[in-house]
Amino acid sequence: MRLIIMGPPGAGKGTQAKFVADHFKIPAISTGDIFRANVTQGTELGVKAKQYMDGGDYVPDEVTNLMVRDRIDQPDAESGFLLDGYPRTLAQVEELDGMISFTGHKLDAVLVLTVDQDEIVQRLLQRAELEGRADDTEDVIRKRQELYVEQTEPLIEVYRERGILIELDGMGEVDEVTQRIFDALDVWPQS
Ligand code: ADP
Repeated sequence: MRLIIMGPPGAGKGTQAKFVADHFKIPAISTGDIFRANVTQGTELGVKAKQYMDGGDYVPDEVTNLMVRDRIDQPDAESGFLLDGYPRTLAQVEELDGMISFTGHKLDAVLVLTVDQDEIVQRLLQRAELEGRADDTEDVIRKRQELYVEQTEPLIEVYRERGILIELDGMGEVDEVTQRIFDALDVWPQS
């Protein structure tokens, strides 16, 4: 399975990505997590990414694309993967198409979690308290939501046209949402 999980910041992508990845025995690849790990370790990539992340901006495509290419090339991703937080721009969509077709595979499905805006802000502010993420302040949350609408939401139409979009209600309990995802994927044709 080669899957993407999408949704606005705070939609619960990361949480669901882990369950789905475990279920299908594929790695969940979160660009946000990889960037944060690099920031913590103070790598060159982390230093580069941090200036963008702290302000809620997207890290430049060429930096992000290289990182994903590298990760997808790892042996554990050979039989499939679930991408969380990538692609986020049309340029990244093209780049990913190239990476996948190069290996002779195809993208199976793109999951989109739909959520209520108010609920999202609540979740993010709660997460800010629990995890202390530097980009979970109100201003930066707003910035990330704007960027999502501007740059990432248009990707939904691209994948809809390809016939691989699965839109799901992301509201409710975590395990209810997980069940919705499993139900949808169970009847989905696999490559
Ligand atoms: P969220 O979905 O809650 O905004 P993520 O953990 O997915 O959070 O991402 C955190 C930050 O990492 C983003 O705001 C952005 O700066 C950077 N980032 C993650 N993925 C990408 C990407 N595909 N392209 C550019 N920047 C990214």
